[in-house]
Amino acid sequence: MISVRLSAQSLSKTKLEAKVDSVLSLMTLEEKIGQMVQYSASWDVTGPPTAGNENRLENLKRGLVGSMLNVTGVKATKEAQRLNMENSRLKIPLIFGYDVIHGYKTLFPIPLGESASWDLDIMERTARAAARESAAAGIGWTFAPMVDVSRDARWGRIMEGAGEDPFLVAKIGVARVKGFQTDDLTSPTAIAACAKHFAGYGFAEAGRDYNTVNLGMSELHNTILPPFKAAADAGVLTFMNSFNEIDGIPSTGNPYLQREILKEEWNYKGFIVSDWGSISEMIAHGVAENHKEAAYIALTAGSDMDMEGNAYETSIEDLIKEGRVSETLVDDAVKRILRVKFQLGLFDDPYKYCDAKAEKKELYSKENQQLSLEAGKKSIVLLKNENALLPIASKVKTIAVIGPLADDNDSPLGNWRGQGVSNSAVSVLEGIRRYAPKGTKVTYAKGADLSIGERSFLKHMTINETDTSGFGKAVETAKEADLVILVVGEDAFQTGEARSQTDIGFAGVQDELIKVVYKANSNVVMVLMNGRPMDISWSAANIPTILESWLLGSQHGNAVAEVLFGKYNPSGKLPVSFPRSVGQEPLYYNQKNTGRPGPIEDVTYSHYVDERRDALYPFGYGLSYTTFKYDNISLSASSFSEGEPLTVTVSVTNTGKLDGEEVVQLYLRDLVASTTRPIKELKGFEKVFIKAGETKKVIFTIDRELLSFYTRNKKWEAESGDFKVFVGGNSVDVLEASFKYKNE
Ligand code: BGC
Repeated sequence: MISVRLSAQSLSKTKLEAKVDSVLSLMTLEEKIGQMVQYSASWDVTGPPTAGNENRLENLKRGLVGSMLNVTGVKATKEAQRLNMENSRLKIPLIFGYDVIHGYKTLFPIPLGESASWDLDIMERTARAAARESAAAGIGWTFAPMVDVSRDARWGRIMEGAGEDPFLVAKIGVARVKGFQTDDLTSPTAIAACAKHFAGYGFAEAGRDYNTVNLGMSELHNTILPPFKAAADAGVLTFMNSFNEIDGIPSTGNPYLQREILKEEWNYKGFIVSDWGSISEMIAHGVAENHKEAAYIALTAGSDMDMEGNAYETSIEDLIKEGRVSETLVDDAVKRILRVKFQLGLFDDPYKYCDAKAEKKELYSKENQQLSLEAGKKSIVLLKNENALLPIASKVKTIAVIGPLADDNDSPLGNWRGQGVSNSAVSVLEGIRRYAPKGTKVTYAKGADLSIGERSFLKHMTINETDTSGFGKAVETAKEADLVILVVGEDAFQTGEARSQTDIGFAGVQDELIKVVYKANSNVVMVLMNGRPMDISWSAANIPTILESWLLGSQHGNAVAEVLFGKYNPSGKLPVSFPRSVGQEPLYYNQKNTGRPGPIEDVTYSHYVDERRDALYPFGYGLSYTTFKYDNISLSASSFSEGEPLTVTVSVTNTGKLDGEEVVQLYLRDLVASTTRPIKELKGFEKVFIKAGETKKVIFTIDRELLSFYTRNKKWEAESGDFKVFVGGNSVDVLEASFKYKNE
């Protein structure tokens, strides 16, 4: 029996390649194809296979499986690895994948929420903690980060990304990749990350999940691809392709994306896993007649591993025998997969993630709960604060906590929530009770239910549309209080995969509840819990104070309470525009002018007859308990060329009475270019802590790369010309200056 156990310690590039080649040279075609197969846990691997899975168990033992997903916990992953290692000819370790999207046992804010922190350090740290927990539970590979730019609030998976702006999505994606993978891939707590979904998945027409995508080259290169390129440059070990088609070609079968751009142009050495069944789904797309044709299209296009598609394992051998594909394509895919396994040190220790002691210690640790709280409060966005309702003043003696989500300890966990965590979050009510000063009375009325019955995947959710029997108590409770905290929004499963919505307002009877409570007591602080930008127009016009809390994970209620009681001064900024109504979607700040733009308001041409055109709350927006004033924007020169970057300096003063953090944002506009360009594009940001009364200078550097885009020449390049630079605390209220760039 030949056994492959080679050291992975500090592999130099050539050594690594030599090891990969030497393993490959030992493999039969069947074993090679096996590496390209990923099975889900369709039976409990610690016991006998259930009916229909006998063959899968057999394949596992014969070394004909490269990876499994959804096998979790040390006991199960160890057993599956043992079945493979002790029975297979070559003993090539399995890699276990799982959707560790915003935590495993400790849940951190959903990715969209956490992105509102604009705090790359905290996002790297939460990804690190999530990696530690999942690595301790046997998992060596997470299917995250999702770096799909998402601009349509109807799309349920908007919760899983970092919002509408490619620059921000790229920065956050890189921070998360670093957190998951660390600098030392062989460390027992480092896991492989996965940049997904390559590509265009966030642009599904009408926000309906999996739907057709029609996308031009300029948008593809300027908006969709930059975060993927950044992840590839940051060394992300894997990519996942996507369910959607772009302009007639399913991404899974798209050679331009996978081979030309990713593997050739970007020289990417990791591997591409298909999305769940997306290879065989090309049959339903209508571009492949059967599994064999689907396998042919996917393999030639550059998809390396078949996630639960049953196409590669059944067809590749035949395709090679028939001479339709060359074995070198298979070799390339297998080398990529082996390379990642070597890089992670799995050949050195296939059980590196199977440490029962670590599993006990790392999961739901105190430190991770603390980190979840820190990330939670940094993710909260103060949207409106009139009548000085927040932070809650000491004169407030009775606080009424009202709403269907107020005492919900499950929804804060969001969708894609790791393992066995249901109902484990701190609810807003619990947090308020814990943080309320002594002597403050906290009362509670649910008011109404939100979701009732099943929340299962791929079904319509049942929302309570009629039962208002709790309104009476809610009104009474509101009347008797000095202040109402009204907790409304979305159930955790209104967002996530296959959770698209046409109505992004308050579901069920919440609209009526909001109105009756507000009528009973107008001192209302609305705490929103949601995974997408919602249509909150009525509330924005009427309710004095609104706090966007997203779905913050395990420590939700404590994080909200720290903000409500002023223990933390909110600093979050929206990573996505909030519309005035769903008809504006997709809505994003970095849109282009039409030939008939008009001013944003009072437009004659490109507008809606029944709605304003601008956002209710724009990208980058968020208030603080203090105020910031921007002035003195200055440039180091009025023009620059390659090699001599330009600096932009601005003064930011904390003009209020409290210390606070501000996200200072830099935007650019290319005034005349070879293709149309966005009216503003984020190109820099810095989160700065400024003491009350203090002024800080913030300096940004603009270089050629920041001005570059996919031009009419189909190249990534900067063009000479006039530019505008804007700096401010959101994408609308900005100072501006101009400069020229000369391409010399
Ligand atoms: C999703 C992926 C996910 C995969 C595995 C698919 O349905 O689109 O994002 O990683 O399932 O769970």
